Amino acid sequence: MEKKESRPLPHELERMVPKERQKHLEERMREIIDYAYEKAPAVKERFDKAGIKPKDIRTVKDMEKIPMLRKDDLIALQKESPPFGGYLAVPLDNLERIYQSPGPIFDPQRKRGFGGGGMGPDFGKGQIVMNTWSYHITPAGLGVDQLLRSMGFTVVPMGTGNTELQVQVMRDLKVHGFVGTPSFLKIIIDKAEDMGYDFKKDFNLKWAMVGGEMGGEALRKLFQEKYGILCMGGDTYATADVGTVATGCDKQSGMHITADAIVEIVDPTTGKQLEPGEIGEIVVTPFDEVYPLIRFGTGDLSMMVDEPCGCGRTTPRLPKIMGRSGEAVRVRGMFVHPKQTDETIARFPEIRRYQLVVTRPQNRDEMVLKVELADAAADKEKLKSALDKSFRDTCKVRFDRVEFVAQGIITKSGKQIVDERVY
Ligand SMILES: [Zn+2]
Repeated sequence: MEKKESRPLPHELERMVPKERQKHLEERMREIIDYAYEKAPAVKERFDKAGIKPKDIRTVKDMEKIPMLRKDDLIALQKESPPFGGYLAVPLDNLERIYQSPGPIFDPQRKRGFGGGGMGPDFGKGQIVMNTWSYHITPAGLGVDQLLRSMGFTVVPMGTGNTELQVQVMRDLKVHGFVGTPSFLKIIIDKAEDMGYDFKKDFNLKWAMVGGEMGGEALRKLFQEKYGILCMGGDTYATADVGTVATGCDKQSGMHITADAIVEIVDPTTGKQLEPGEIGEIVVTPFDEVYPLIRFGTGDLSMMVDEPCGCGRTTPRLPKIMGRSGEAVRVRGMFVHPKQTDETIARFPEIRRYQLVVTRPQNRDEMVLKVELADAAADKEKLKSALDKSFRDTCKVRFDRVEFVAQGIITKSGKQIVDERVY
């Protein structure tokens, strides 16, 4: 792909006036689409099927015309035409590695790692880092390893597990930095204390780059306050298929969206883009010449926050990942997740089973709660109004009616929420 000489660097893009950045991103978006259409047969096929050409996609809004690529589609395509389902845009012998992630799904090694933030090779000079991401078949360990080495760090490739060994190596090598999940660092510290060490005194750990799981905030606070470990970078949201999507900053106010991809938040059913503040599925088009997955639906839910951040970046943020879209259903603009409905129904011991059915008569979402009673003598009217209130409180949306059904109508293995809408 041809590169423009005057292209801004990632850290410049991140601090640009949003309108200005949009111009650069859309230019790169058009380039990757032209490129992918030409080099990746599966992209051409998808465009042709939808009756669109690369020239139809000029703006981010135009991306809505391209049908989303779901993980399940990719798994099926890879099976049909192994190993990459027609999405590899370079000859196979150009690849350095091939990974596999759950699905199962194959991922070619891409050039981009976990987002270095433009730090040079002297940044980590003289510092020993323990990388505890898995080195085995998934891209996490080797990807981060490569990134750390490019920043000048000396890496100990620990991988996962083996806590006692982790403790010994961390102590014997006077390791400066830890990379992995916050909960694993906590396990290592606990183990060290169990082994009789005073972690703050006997170890040299100065910083940790932790992420990869929800709710790491409390642990970060503990590491900083109790052990004096500086927690860097905040959370990172990355997937094996599209690489880094968003990275936290030192203001810990969510994760900034990368300037190396087009990221959309869409209605998972229609693929239409949503406004900032609305929850939807994260859809990513990485500027990746090796594996250009155009409009890859991650299946993860979040929303965009576009208010300015104290760190100086102007890129929008994802506050956190809010669940998986396959399980949630959007009804009249609100997401209803089985977790919420389970929680609501659990308050009613007189209900044995339930199922929420969403339909769309006359272009309006209709939600019917089917209920199988454990106690046939229960007061149905009273139950109805209690359910109505409880449902409104937890799910922020009302069902239209309750239907009491006989035993056997709702099967044990049936889904809690069934979406029968036709658009
Ligand atoms: Zn920030």
